[in-house]
Amino acid sequence: MLRQQHDRIDPKRRNIVDHRKKQFATPQYKETDYPTRLNFYSDAPTADITLEQFEQWAIDRLRVLGELEACSFRNRSPAETATHMKPLLDKYLPLDSNSSASSSLFSQRQKDHYSHFILRLAFSSTEDLRRRFTRVETMLFRLRFNNDDLSERAKFIAGLDFDWWETVTEQERQEFATELAATAGPRKSPEDDSWFKVDWDRVPDLVEGRRVFLRQGKAYVPGREQSSMVVAEFSARLEKQLQLTARALPRLDEDDRLTPILNHLSKNFVTPDAAYMSGSTAPVGAQISANNIDSLSQHFPACMSHLHRSLRRDAHLKHYGRLQYTLFLKGIGLNLEECLLFWRRSFHKIDDDKFNKEYKYNVRHVYGDVGGDSNRRGGGYSPYSCQKILTEHPPGPGEAHGCPYRHFNMENLTALVQAMGVSDRATLQGIKEDKDHQKYHMACNRVFEYLHKNEIKKAKEESVMTANQLETIVHPNEYFKRSYLLKNLGKDADVKMEE
Ligand code: SF4
Repeated sequence: MLRQQHDRIDPKRRNIVDHRKKQFATPQYKETDYPTRLNFYSDAPTADITLEQFEQWAIDRLRVLGELEACSFRNRSPAETATHMKPLLDKYLPLDSNSSASSSLFSQRQKDHYSHFILRLAFSSTEDLRRRFTRVETMLFRLRFNNDDLSERAKFIAGLDFDWWETVTEQERQEFATELAATAGPRKSPEDDSWFKVDWDRVPDLVEGRRVFLRQGKAYVPGREQSSMVVAEFSARLEKQLQLTARALPRLDEDDRLTPILNHLSKNFVTPDAAYMSGSTAPVGAQISANNIDSLSQHFPACMSHLHRSLRRDAHLKHYGRLQYTLFLKGIGLNLEECLLFWRRSFHKIDDDKFNKEYKYNVRHVYGDVGGDSNRRGGGYSPYSCQKILTEHPPGPGEAHGCPYRHFNMENLTALVQAMGVSDRATLQGIKEDKDHQKYHMACNRVFEYLHKNEIKKAKEESVMTANQLETIVHPNEYFKRSYLLKNLGKDADVKMEE
């Protein structure tokens, strides 16, 4: 798959690197043509590409996937997502239809094909990554499928090797014309001219909703329902294939050109706006000091509220809890001196000597006060985004880090959000449903909206919220900042909603 690349590969290794690893699937070189723009990615690519292409194509796809994920966090509708994504897709991953006059059809489709497979390698190592990757790739597939022109889509579907799906012949369509017309209903669309049949138990929802015609154990499904079935099949296959890739991954370690690139790719799968800069981001007019963290904690999201409560209860937090919380405090604008003072006072059961030896260095390191050059130059670490907190280092017994919406059971979560001030039954029920559907951000935003409902109403009436501030929160520091600004709006002349 990779052509030798002079500046990246140790010349001594050139002859011994078998660059067509087994996990790249079909070991023999096979000419690939791309009859349609949509691809089910059933076969791995086998032609040679350069290491630069390998990396750049993957990065370009990652940009698209990251932005798509951000759209879903922000609860954008399919139409809004399509509009938002269009320029990005045109720039990073264009995919023209056969009917376009484009002369780049092959190169576009090749890039799409390769970048998908490269990211499969980068995102197959853990269940979390696999789930995320499947989710965003499915979103991309759905977006493209829905935008495809009808004849090309029909050609693509005809080429799929679905053995559980049969096209309804012209003869059958005539025979059951009345029943099919009744099923299609008055809102018949051009897609409904194509029908297909499947075993009825494959489409229980459609059967239950009487959206199919049933005969001899088969459900006759109208074309407009094809989209969701094809998309579901895409998702199910990708999930299985990622598991197979995960099993083949250890063999990839032999290739030390690829492993660092793949690790880098998976580490950088953060939504573009989920990263928070490492500098102070105190809201304008806010006093952020060790003395007032207790009162500021009313503006903390559940994750940080729980860390703060645990710290006050135990006068201690374990390593990842300290790290997550210190980074957050740094992000709200607490400077290093105040942060050290805060931790020193909070760990009141230990003496100065123990604190200085065991804890002080880590806090300084987080702020970039000590450590290697790049850490210092970069001002230390950045506060964790929700994505990072949700997916990395799940808390073990006795640990207080993580995201309560994901890592708590419902009973503990209910107790926590009640302690934060959520008493409304409908909101608690909504949180439960969000959690059941693994929409942890939604639960967090639901709590935010409940706790700030009066202020949000007022800010909307006075038109002091920017479009940004109405979007879904995907970062704990964003939660804090927005909460602080809303609660202090009008109280202090210095506090403004501008961020
Ligand atoms: Fe914290 Fe984000 Fe979880 Fe909210 S969704 S509790 S901000 S990690």
